[in-house]
Amino acid sequence: MQVFTKRYRPFGRFLKELFGVPVYKIPLDAGFTCPNRDGTTGRGGCMFCSNPSFGPFADRAVPLEEQIAAAVTRLRRRRSGDIRFLAYIQSYTGTYGPLEKLQKIYDAALSHPDVVGLAIGTRPDCVPDPVLDLIQGYATRRHVWLEYGLQSIHDRTLKRLNRGHTAGQFREAVARTRQRGPDIFIAAHVILGLPGETAADAVETARALAEIGVDGVKIHHLQVIRGTALEHEWRRGRVAVLSPAEYVRWVCDFLEHLHPEMTIHRLVGEVLAGDLLAAPRWDLPKSRLLDWIDRELERRGTFQGARLSRG
Ligand code: SF4
Repeated sequence: MQVFTKRYRPFGRFLKELFGVPVYKIPLDAGFTCPNRDGTTGRGGCMFCSNPSFGPFADRAVPLEEQIAAAVTRLRRRRSGDIRFLAYIQSYTGTYGPLEKLQKIYDAALSHPDVVGLAIGTRPDCVPDPVLDLIQGYATRRHVWLEYGLQSIHDRTLKRLNRGHTAGQFREAVARTRQRGPDIFIAAHVILGLPGETAADAVETARALAEIGVDGVKIHHLQVIRGTALEHEWRRGRVAVLSPAEYVRWVCDFLEHLHPEMTIHRLVGEVLAGDLLAAPRWDLPKSRLLDWIDRELERRGTFQGARLSRG
C-alpha cells in the first residue's frame, strides 16, 4: 500500500508535537443553550443545527467530571500507549452565560489530571470582553482554543442559514481575541456545500480565513439532519448536497487557499450512524474520504496554502 505524507497540517500532529504524546478531544455537553435558539438573537437556530448529532457521546444530565472520566476510559480502551486529552465544550454556545457559571464549567473541564487543555465552541456574537478576559486567564496557564462557528464568509449565506450574525462580527470577534496576545488559539468552523454556494464561494471563505489569520480550521461537509429546517428545504429540492467526488475537489481547493501554518482540525464531518442523517448517504468510511483527499492533493501536486498568494 502506498503511504502518503500529509499535504496539510493535521491538528492531531500539531498536538502531538506540542505535548509529546497523542492528545484526543473529548466532546462535552455542559448544559448550555444558544442565543440563536432562546430568542436573544433569534429563534429556531441555524437551519442545519441539530446538537444531538454534534456530540452523540455527551449527555448534559451527567456532571462534566463524569463525562470526562467516561470518555477517558473509552479512549484508553481503544488506544494503546500514553495519551492525553483536550476537554471540548462542544454543545450549543460554550461562552453563553454569567461569568461565574463559565468559570465553574471551565474549572470542571480542566480538573482531570490528564486533561492538558480546553477547547470552547462558541459564536462570534457571544464573546463580550469580560468573557475573553476570563478565557485569557486560562490560556496563560493551559492550552486553550476558542472555536468560532463561522460556516461561510458570505453574509448572504449566513442570512439564509439563519446564523444570526455577520461575517463582520466574526472578523471583529477574532480581532478582539487577538488583541489579548497569542495565548488563545483561534479556530473557525466552516461547512462546504452550503445552500446556494459554489466551490468558488468556498474558496473565498478560505482566502478570508487566511487573511484574518485564524490558527485552525474545522471543515465539514453539509449534512442534512432529520428534523432540521435544512431537511425541509432539501426535501423540496431547494438544497443540493455534494457527492463524495465533489467534496474531495472542494476541500482540496479550500486547503490550497488556506495559510500553510493553520492546523486542520477536521476535514470531513463525522459520518452519522442510525436515522439522524437524511443526506448525503455516502455510505463510505471516513478513512476512505480522507484517503481520497490525500490522493487528490498528490495528483494535483499541491498542498495546503499552495494557491494562497497567486489566487
Ligand atoms: S449557533 Fe450553533 S448551537 Fe446555535 S443554533 Fe447555530 S449551530 Fe445551533
